[in-house]
Amino acid sequence: MSILITGGTGFIGSHTVVELIEAGETPIIVDNLSNSKEIVLDRIQTITGIRPKFYKADLCDMTALDTVFAENPDIESVIHFAGLKAVGESVSLPLQYYYNNLVSTLNLCECMKKYGVKNLVFSSSATVYGDPAEIPIKETTPLGQTTNPYGETKKMIERILVDVHKPNPDWSISLLRYFNPVGAHESGLMGEDPKGIPNNLFPFVTQVATGRRPYLSIFGDDYDTHDGTGVRDYIHVVDLARAHLCALKRARKVTGVEVYNIGTGHGYSVLDIVKAFEEATGKKVPYKVVARRPGDVATCYADAAKAKEVLGWEAEFDMVAMCRDADRWQTMNPNGYDA
Ligand code: NAD
Ligand code: UDP
Repeated sequence: MSILITGGTGFIGSHTVVELIEAGETPIIVDNLSNSKEIVLDRIQTITGIRPKFYKADLCDMTALDTVFAENPDIESVIHFAGLKAVGESVSLPLQYYYNNLVSTLNLCECMKKYGVKNLVFSSSATVYGDPAEIPIKETTPLGQTTNPYGETKKMIERILVDVHKPNPDWSISLLRYFNPVGAHESGLMGEDPKGIPNNLFPFVTQVATGRRPYLSIFGDDYDTHDGTGVRDYIHVVDLARAHLCALKRARKVTGVEVYNIGTGHGYSVLDIVKAFEEATGKKVPYKVVARRPGDVATCYADAAKAKEVLGWEAEFDMVAMCRDADRWQTMNPNGYDA
């Protein structure tokens, strides 16, 4: 049996493909390479010894997606990573974000229905909680106002999947709400490869530490947190990848729609990260404090108890591993996969 991995050459997808192969599963990747590169397949092969089957196809192209399912009747589950994810870009390109993220998911569900595939794990995000009503955030914490089209697509897709489940009660749908995925594969062969100037903290820090950028801009030090800078729940991408295996195992046994926070349960401020990174790598991270970034919340970290209790999953890698692995990837691949 095979598992279809949409967005499988992307950051989280590629790490999940490696973990799946190492667990003896057979992933099949579909990706349009809009935000990833085919060389990722070489890296997966180097790490695992296996080159997964790959389709370069856009999920918004129903004919192409149908072909993937038609040619692979053994697909029994889907992990749906594919989507556009840049918060700032989604504000300037709302139509592209709504179209891509929603149409791809609708097409995927249509194909799953047509080909009798009933297990779906979806990449959602802690962004659906908006400015969270309580900390730590539980799965039962009310969803908040999103501040950008990207976040709204996650909320809308969660709702769509809940509705899709109603007339298809034998489906198993896991909504995994990721907190802040960081780090890289310990081999240094796979990691995050953002286009242009990174929006997220970790890739920016690693690029500063390796000299590609002069300093980190810290977006505000006047939040109501222990040192005034924003607090987040950073999770190693390999831990996150493994959470998908646990969700998949459960999906094979139970039906329903289930929501899980996938985080460590620990909050780190931006200044905590700078310090941790410098200690873990011995490299300096010069920084300047600048104005707050619009839409940012002060604090966001998970109550990760449900994933531990029900999925039997919990994060294993600590902040030192996150920093060292991110730095190793950046040092070995100063220009990402283009190097
Ligand atoms: P990524 O951009 O590295 O991977 C997404 C992949 O999807 C890319 O390879 C891209 O080419 C592909 N893709 C996009 N639209 C497609 C389409 N229409 N058809 C086929 N392929 C398409 O992103 P990632 O960081 O690996 O994130 C994976 C998922 O997790 C996304 O849905 C993202 O929104 C979600 N997520 C990510 C984070 C994060 O911080 N990285 C946090 C929360 C949720
Ligand atoms: N951040 C920062 N400088 C940067 C990027 C991010 O100070 O160049 C801060 C940001 O304000 C937030 C934290 O780092 O408090 C994490 O930001 P990121 O964009 O990585 O994740 P998100 O805000 O989506 O949780």
